[in-house]
Amino acid sequence: MDYLPVFLRLEGQAALIVGGGTVAARKARWLARAGAQVTLVAPQWHAEVAAGIHEGAYRGLREAFAPGHVQGMRLVIAASDDPATNQAVSLAARTLQIPVNVVDSPELSTFIFPAIIERSPVLVAVSSAGAAPVLARRVREQIEALLPARLGALARFMGERRREVGQALSAWARRAFWERIASGPTAERVLAGDEPGAARAFAAELRTSQLTGAGGEARALGEVYLIGAGPGSPDLLTLRALQLLQQADVILYDRLVPEAILDRARRDAERIAVGKSVGDSGGQERINQLLLQLAAQGKRVARLKGGDPFVFGRGGEELEVLAAHDVPYTVVPGVTAALAAGAVANIPLTHRRLAHSVTFVTGHAVDDGALDWRALAAPGSTVVFYMGVAQLPQIVARLRAAGAAATHPAAIVERAALPGERVLRSTLAALPELAARERVSAPALLVLGAVAAFTPGEPVATPAATATIATLAAQVGVTS
Ligand code: SAH
Repeated sequence: MDYLPVFLRLEGQAALIVGGGTVAARKARWLARAGAQVTLVAPQWHAEVAAGIHEGAYRGLREAFAPGHVQGMRLVIAASDDPATNQAVSLAARTLQIPVNVVDSPELSTFIFPAIIERSPVLVAVSSAGAAPVLARRVREQIEALLPARLGALARFMGERRREVGQALSAWARRAFWERIASGPTAERVLAGDEPGAARAFAAELRTSQLTGAGGEARALGEVYLIGAGPGSPDLLTLRALQLLQQADVILYDRLVPEAILDRARRDAERIAVGKSVGDSGGQERINQLLLQLAAQGKRVARLKGGDPFVFGRGGEELEVLAAHDVPYTVVPGVTAALAAGAVANIPLTHRRLAHSVTFVTGHAVDDGALDWRALAAPGSTVVFYMGVAQLPQIVARLRAAGAAATHPAAIVERAALPGERVLRSTLAALPELAARERVSAPALLVLGAVAAFTPGEPVATPAATATIATLAAQVGVTS
């Protein structure tokens, strides 16, 4: 180990930065954030440094560096672009045994700056000891992505309750208690920004721990994460989905969730496939019961659903069941299939010249009389049918009957963002035959409306023009 990572307390301490450019400005910001009293020495200021000095954030000495500047300093940084100056700063500081960092010169430095991840009061510092700063920054990005944005709030929440817990629980019960707080519903509530909810969950945990006395055996509160897994590619998971997936003890997943996504879960997490076939309502009841049972066992349950849990995902029904049984839950949105399909097919679902609205429809509703087919048939609005492949001929017939032109642009996006993805563009009238010929199978979406004919780089046909073409086609006797 070439360096010892430590965290320096600089509140109210004098620190010197030699240099007036953007690097000096960046260092000055970090030092000021740590509460240091920063003095900048340089013959010239960059505008940002000048502004900071003007606002009183730093003291500025507009002059050349002299060894006397380091007197009384706790920390010195050389960030000038003149090697001789940097060398002089290093020498002056080392003579007085003041820690010094010369930017990009580990050999002139007695300490180095790490790449920093700040979720104050939680701090993560990453260093490659100067060997590969780019690599250290990459590691920083990876950790950054893993840590919840509100981690600092969680640390503060826990810090504020240390005394209370110290009084309520025996020393050896505390550790188990804090473990449960850090990875249970209390933490979830804080991370979701719901501090009152967190305070309630915390109080419940504390009561349970006190009742069981021994504490170590107290059963944790179970909870359910209702997670949208996106269209299937692990890259399209949200950071939040990934964090909760790596925390869950059990994973209940649908048929639409591929192996590649399950691989992102904790290795020792139990996996339960709960995929159900169309109209299998008994299946939903079994899932509901399983969620309640696992939560009652104190498990952290990830309920993984394809796309978004609230778009044709029955997420609402599962929440009703959880709420009725007081099981804590968190909902994480996912990229719904329509959005993924638009992206992979280069079909903007709205476009200023082509469509001002987009409607998501389930193919299962085709026959139940609840849909406004005239509205869906308008070329200037985009309609995306989920689960519509099997009903394709009926969907087309109804739209045609409601006034949609034979030439109404239409596309099928099969397996969006999954291996074997396909995009078929056509017109409404030609769509059923095309789908049959190409053996389109689920999961696939129908995208209907002027946007389905959109090709970047080509002039777009407006809905009005599409309608005119349809009228002309009808007049000259072109049939569909
Ligand atoms: N909750 C999901 C939808 C579940 S309904 C979501 O928000 O995406 C299942 C239907 O979604 C499938 O029949 C298909 O129409 C659509 N679907 C899901 N994943 C898809 C994908 N990768 N490509 C195309 N369609 C998909």
